Order: sequence, then structure tokens, then C-alpha cells
Amino acid sequence: MTAIYRVRAGIEHIEPYVPGLTDDELKARYGLSEVVKLNANENALGPSPLALAAIQQELQVLHHYPDGASFLLRDEIARFHGVRPEQVLVGNGSDELIKLLAETFLEPEDEVVMPFPSFSQYAFGASVMRAKTRLVPLGPGFTYDVEALAAAVTERTKLVFCCSPNNPTGTVMTQAEAEWLLAQLPEHVVLVIDAAYNDYSRNPKRVMGERLLHDPRVVILHTFSKLYGLAGLRVGYGLAHAELWSFVNRVREPFNVNRLAQRAAAAALQDEAHRQASQELALRSKRFYLEVCQALGLEAPEPEGNFILVRTGDGRATAQAMMARGVMVRTNFAGLDEYVRITFGTDRENELCAEALRAVVGR
Ligand SMILES: *Cc1c(COP(=O)(O)O)cnc(C)c1O
Repeated sequence: MTAIYRVRAGIEHIEPYVPGLTDDELKARYGLSEVVKLNANENALGPSPLALAAIQQELQVLHHYPDGASFLLRDEIARFHGVRPEQVLVGNGSDELIKLLAETFLEPEDEVVMPFPSFSQYAFGASVMRAKTRLVPLGPGFTYDVEALAAAVTERTKLVFCCSPNNPTGTVMTQAEAEWLLAQLPEHVVLVIDAAYNDYSRNPKRVMGERLLHDPRVVILHTFSKLYGLAGLRVGYGLAHAELWSFVNRVREPFNVNRLAQRAAAAALQDEAHRQASQELALRSKRFYLEVCQALGLEAPEPEGNFILVRTGDGRATAQAMMARGVMVRTNFAGLDEYVRITFGTDRENELCAEALRAVVGR
């Protein structure tokens, strides 16, 4: 540690986030002119054309600050979900909302409960606030073990995070499990359900967070980064009781969502054709990869999002070897050394990925 900076206690314990490599890094590192980028669960179809048109218009007014309350966007989101605008908060990606929830609720030594393996940002928010994270292993086949989650809750627990479909396993929490868990949670615990991939799933049993919103302890997170293809703009949103957001708003930066993001997201929400095309591509990709995995004798839990977790034996070695063939997949998930996570691409990208996978696993 350096001697001159008196940083806040606990800063040295925060693990910096390690993102997947960017296209430029990939091309430079491997001397490739093209890469098939299947490492960050992005939408292979790109952004909605309606979003691009909205951005074009908004470019003329970039000298003006954005609407700090994101009124127009919150209105559209509220209409889309059948809730009131006061129940909607938008953020600079749903990552920001996760951090804001941590800043609003957590004091040092408080606890956060989350499944393992799952999305690392939940633990990040906790570590920034010097709170503790209790990791609760998923059950067989990466299903949710809600009894174990409930059992991990203590007097000090403030937030329980669940991700459905779960990143990186692709498995869902059911509505029945969510209702049971909520009924077990003490009054002072907030249940956050991250639904980043929920609109890809057709599983009729999956939790539909909107049906839990009658309970003031529930927060549902959504993002424009996946289905809507706007990861580069950074915009996500949460649904909850207005009073909960009234607290979160006190720690939120005044202009947290930029003008382009607000307009593009509002437009993307109206683009039914893009949404359907994205859902259909994911469904087609799911069938494709399940067949590929079955043919190669590779285990993979049924994927409910826009990615599939595949057990290849040594995930890191698989990813490296696929990379040398120009296909970038994600690996290095804690607890999942034997796996790679493949984001669904276009049909062509999926073919290229399958070829690389076949060559690498040598079957
Ligand atoms: C991608 C992702 C998000 C979205 O993050 P943004 O900050 O909105 O881009 C949220 N939760 C999970 C589980 C994700 O995989």
C-alpha cells in the first residue's frame, strides 16, 4: 500500500471489476481483423433503429443538461409496466442502481445475501459500503435454493439479491420460490430481483417481478443493455414503491442519465419489431447451442437468457483456444472453473462459435 494517500478504510478490500476484453483489445492482442464477440451478453442485432433516430435528433441539444428526473423516460417505462411513474427510477445502467441501493441501505457490518455463482456487482455494492456479503450456493442444476437463502438472513441483513434468469448460469427463480422467500423475509429486508434477462425467457414458471410490487420490500431491476441493444449508452431502471425511491434519490447524482440515453431508451421501448426479433434470435440460438452441446457431449443448463453456460472441463483453456480462432467467450467466473459462458450471436456468429468449440473440445 502507498503511504501518502489516506484512503477510506476498506478501499483496499474492494476487488476491481474485471470486464471482458473490448473489441479493440481483442484485435490487438490476437492480431485479428475481425472478432466474434460473445463475451458480454450484448445484443447481436445491435440497437433499435428507432433508438438511433432518436439519438440523431437529440444531438442538436447536447449543450443542454438532461432532464435530471428523466420524466419522459419514466413515463414511458411506467406505461409499459402498468405502474405509476413515481415507482420508476432510472440509472446509468442498472449497475448504478445496484450501487445506489447499497449506498442507501448499507452501513458497515450490515449484510447482503446473494446466490453463488451470480452477478458480481451485488457484492461490489456491499464492499463499497463495507458491508458483508453472504454467498448462498445455488442448488442442483444451478436452481435457486430459497430455503438456504432464507436461512442466511440475519438481523443485520438489509438486502437480498436474486437474479432471474441468473447471470452466468442462465437458470430462473420461479414465481413460487420468490413468493415463498418474500414471505420468510423479516420486515427490514429488501428483496431485489434483477430481471436483466427476463424478457428473453418463455418459462411460464419464472418469477414476474411486477406481480410482487404490491410489497414495499421489493425492487425489480431492468436494463436497456441486453434485449434493447443499448449497453454502450448506459441506461437501466428499477421498479419499486415510490417511498423507497425517495430515499435512493437522495444519493443519486442529479443528472445521472444523459440526454441520448433517455431519448434512445424511450424510443427503444416502442420498438416492438426489434424486441421480437431479439427474442426470436435468442430462442433460435438457444435451440442451436443445446443441440451443439448435446452432440459434443457437453453439459449445459437450459439457458433462459441470451447466453449459455457450457461445461468444457477447463474454462480458461477453452476460452483461450477459442480466442485463437477469433471467438471470444467469457470465463473466469468464481466457482465455475470448468465452464465458459457463450453469448448468443447472429446465426452466422453462432455457426463460427460452434465450429471453434468443436475444434477446441476435439470431438
Ligand atoms: C448485464 C447485466 C445488467 C445490466 O447492467 P447495465 O449496468 O444496465 O448495463 C444487470 N444485471 C445483470 C445480471 C446483468 O448481467
